[in-house]
Amino acid sequence: MHEEKSPRKPLLYYYCITLLVLMLLNALVFPSLMGNRVTPVDYNTFLNELDAGHVTQVTQDGEELLFVTEVDGKEHIYSTAWDDPDLTERLRAQENISFGKIVPKENSPLLSFILTWIFPMILFIGIGQLLMRQMQKRMGGGPNAMTFGKANAKIYVAAQTGKTFADVAGEDEAKEALSEIVDFLHNPEKYARIGASLPKGALLVGPPGTGKTLLAKAVAGEANVPFFSISGSEFVEMFVGMGAAKVRDLFKQANEKAPCIVFIDEIDTIGKKRDGGGVGGNDEREQTLNQLLTEMDGFDGRKGVVILAATNRPESLDPALLRPGRFDRRVPVELPDLAGREAVLKVHAKDVQMEPDIDFNAIARATSGASGAELANIVNEAALRAVRMGRDKVSQSDLEESVEVVIAGYQRKSAVISPKEKEIVAYHEIGHALVAAKQTNSAPVHKITIIPRTSGALGYTMQVEEGEKVLMTREEAFNKIATLTGGRAAEELVFGTFTSGASNDIEQATRIARSMVTRLGMSKNFDMMGLETIQNQYLGGDASLTCSPETAAKIDDEVLELIKSAHTKAIEILQNNQAKLHELAAYLLEKETITGEEFMNILEKE
Ligand code: ADP
Repeated sequence: MHEEKSPRKPLLYYYCITLLVLMLLNALVFPSLMGNRVTPVDYNTFLNELDAGHVTQVTQDGEELLFVTEVDGKEHIYSTAWDDPDLTERLRAQENISFGKIVPKENSPLLSFILTWIFPMILFIGIGQLLMRQMQKRMGGGPNAMTFGKANAKIYVAAQTGKTFADVAGEDEAKEALSEIVDFLHNPEKYARIGASLPKGALLVGPPGTGKTLLAKAVAGEANVPFFSISGSEFVEMFVGMGAAKVRDLFKQANEKAPCIVFIDEIDTIGKKRDGGGVGGNDEREQTLNQLLTEMDGFDGRKGVVILAATNRPESLDPALLRPGRFDRRVPVELPDLAGREAVLKVHAKDVQMEPDIDFNAIARATSGASGAELANIVNEAALRAVRMGRDKVSQSDLEESVEVVIAGYQRKSAVISPKEKEIVAYHEIGHALVAAKQTNSAPVHKITIIPRTSGALGYTMQVEEGEKVLMTREEAFNKIATLTGGRAAEELVFGTFTSGASNDIEQATRIARSMVTRLGMSKNFDMMGLETIQNQYLGGDASLTCSPETAAKIDDEVLELIKSAHTKAIEILQNNQAKLHELAAYLLEKETITGEEFMNILEKE
């Protein structure tokens, strides 16, 4: 949200400028408009005027002498101090001078009222408005920024999206769930005839980058209806009531364009659970949410306005939103599985010049856990790499390298690493790979490298599952921990000491061990007791313990025990294969990057 500038400074300017203008007017313009005022002059001026024959009237006013001159038909009144015994003589010498009382002429009271009160006020307001308008322009709000109750219409872009379900790879369940909406928008009569009204809204739920926005666009594209898009955060406004006004405006526009799709991204920003607490801080959000609920209840479901909303924090949504008649359809949009990843890669590869023999499956296998957006990024990175290399087609190696770029960052060829450290890194990585290879139920090693990456990794071992894995046995989980400890184990074994290079391994090993104990029921002491709840399924999956402090201490003990035994196992494996460890480390040190195949060849060689 852009920051509103404090209007105090411009206001101060405004006051100063108006004051200045008024002072100038008072000094220069008003006197002449307001009739004749008395101007003091010295006695000589009086004598000169007298000699010139301009003086028409003279009178004594206490110590002073008032006189009127007339030049070219214009009268002026002057006053002067006088001490002249010959004055009477002088005056007598002139003819046509009268000696009546001189009353400075005033304009009509109405004119002077207008000039002194109304005119400055109009001036004030005029300049004020001018400055206001400039301020708004500077704040980027356009002419509407101060018009409360009217949302900026440009937020909603009712566009034909041009996307179809064919652009969305995988996600078949989601597509199926949404195809009913498409059908409804195509023939609403079919549904009206039987008296069915379609759900007014569907909630697309899933991790970031899985194609929720894309799906919503595809629904609009398939149904060939306008697509209104707005993000929840755009409703959150500075002033209470503005968000609600925007909702009203959005629905008004949507109703005019029906049938159409309204897509609200990040609906959790306005749809968070309303809670009783808090000191009035959430008034604005609550009002917005209430307005949304009211609008959803209010519009006619048969008219053809369908609201799609996306969120990656479904657990934080207000239950009122999920009630029947509102977002009662919930469409999960999950991370793609192996087939899904391959399909996403292929969809994005269509727009890119590819060599004919690309093995998308291999790339899909190496990118377990990647979202659609990341896969799209991998294809694009590969294309960029091909261009950098001066080729006009993307090759398999481009794709493989870009997977690594997305996972671990770019290669840092410039990084200077001492030979000793390089050796340590080589042993560390071979340690991982060797422990992995010597265990059953462990994913095969795909690649080992000791080229540093921009992410800070000095090297890594890539393991790729053969196929899609959904379940994990206790042994597999334990072996994973052992593999993670393999790097440190090799350092200990070969150098008798260890380095800080294992920090990431430690983190991962602990996470696996902890979830084995607290969530997966793979512990010795706690059987199938759940000890943790996941707070946010789609965003990092932070978990919080749901047990007593004593139990928490026991959990720590068990996690430690698991990691220790895995570490011991790794050391044993390496001790039993010391010759291979040295041979492989030397080979890796020489080559810097070796494939899983090369690794296995050396390992299995007699
Ligand atoms: P979300 O709204 O879930 O965060 P988006 O719909 O914005 O994700 O996806 C971002 C981009 O990722 C899309 O524009 C598309 O290029 C790509 N993408 C994500 N999922 C898919 C998919 N299933 N098929 C094809 N492309 C996808």
